Amino acid sequence: MRHATLEPARERPLAPARRGALTTLGLLATLAAGACGTSVPAPAADVLITNATVWTVDPDQPRAEAIAIIGARIVAVGSNDEIAAWQGPDTSVVDGAGQLVLPGFNDAHIHLMQAGRRLLNGQLAEAASPEARRPAAELALAHAARLGVTSATDMGTTAEDAALFMELAAEDALTLRLYLAPMETDWQDQANVGIRRGFGSAFLRLGALKGYVDGTLQSSTALFFEPYGDAPGSTGMLTEEFTPFEDARTRLSSADASGLQIALHAVGDRGVSMALDLYEELSAVDPTRDRRLRIEHAQHLVDADFDRLAELEVVASVQPYQAIDDGRWAEERIGSERARGSYAYQTLLDRGARLALGTDWDAGPLDPMLTLHAAVTRATLDGWHPDGWMPAQKLTLEDAVEAYTLGSAYAEFQESEKGSVTVGKLADLVMLDADIFASDPRDLPTVGVVMTVVGGRVVYTTR
Ligand SMILES: [Zn+2]
Repeated sequence: MRHATLEPARERPLAPARRGALTTLGLLATLAAGACGTSVPAPAADVLITNATVWTVDPDQPRAEAIAIIGARIVAVGSNDEIAAWQGPDTSVVDGAGQLVLPGFNDAHIHLMQAGRRLLNGQLAEAASPEARRPAAELALAHAARLGVTSATDMGTTAEDAALFMELAAEDALTLRLYLAPMETDWQDQANVGIRRGFGSAFLRLGALKGYVDGTLQSSTALFFEPYGDAPGSTGMLTEEFTPFEDARTRLSSADASGLQIALHAVGDRGVSMALDLYEELSAVDPTRDRRLRIEHAQHLVDADFDRLAELEVVASVQPYQAIDDGRWAEERIGSERARGSYAYQTLLDRGARLALGTDWDAGPLDPMLTLHAAVTRATLDGWHPDGWMPAQKLTLEDAVEAYTLGSAYAEFQESEKGSVTVGKLADLVMLDADIFASDPRDLPTVGVVMTVVGGRVVYTTR
């Protein structure tokens, strides 16, 4: 069993302390007394999860039966017998009943308020009225909790959205940890007040930037080296913000120098290549700096760019559901040769790239089971590829889960805080109603969430 260290929690939420935090302070006082030579009584956990099948995503201790939590943090991971020592008179004990517990899912790419507005209105609404914004956010948060999503990077966050999230965080009402990436064209808003990548609390952080290099495959605006198969005159286009490219280069060089993290949407192979050209230039300045530059979607790559992406240590932030959605028609648009380097998640891993999984919610569904199903089966939505479209690109379930937890945490500079069930990390967990590692992957879409825990607090349960 692995034990807690005597360090206090490294980071506290903006929100006022909850019951668990007070217990932690009592524990620290007890431990401090013990350090003077008196015997240390066994500390009591606030919550124990016992009798579970824990898939930790921690290579030092891959499997466990039980977890002890004090306040927002995991203090012990081990067998039922080992964890029993953490039970005190006030400890809540959750019987896992043999069910699978994973680190909470971390969606590397969502648009929370658009999704919330759609949940509220049943359609992608026009800008919501000020009164409707909070209910929309609350619906989106409840949806995430129900699906076991405990963290996400919010793309293109507006100032109004950020203010609302801060209000929710202050009221202890955020049940999803958010990392905000406002538009890169407004990078000075963050830089001018000294915000750097990852600034903020455990629940709400800033310091990332979202930009668009090109468009989408569906609208023929993704930028390719060669023309579209069904539109011989067109190779797609750069976005307005990247035209001329020199302007984007100047702007993003300054943004990078200010310490902000850059995440660029790039879909076509030339769009991805140009993003990598830019990242190569940025990385040449102070090459040892830990930038974690990101490419969002990274859908189509020419062969040499897989290695370049890996060498530059760029994070490929991908949405596997797009492979089974676009896979119905993508080959007609770009031909079978280019399709081999498309949505090529296994090649990205094989070549040594960092992978982070997400959904682009609400462009795609938020449900992590649908994402995992897409990643491991690549069975297109039209039923035409039951054994997988470009089957060599199927991920193993183990790799997909890791990319969806620890990989996404890395993409937001938080891999030491979350992404695995590890002593000292935040207690962000999901309990499922089936052992996905022991089931047919075709059944993944039917798997449900029994319980979602964020920072030691149950934010959703069917029990
Ligand atoms: Zn998006």
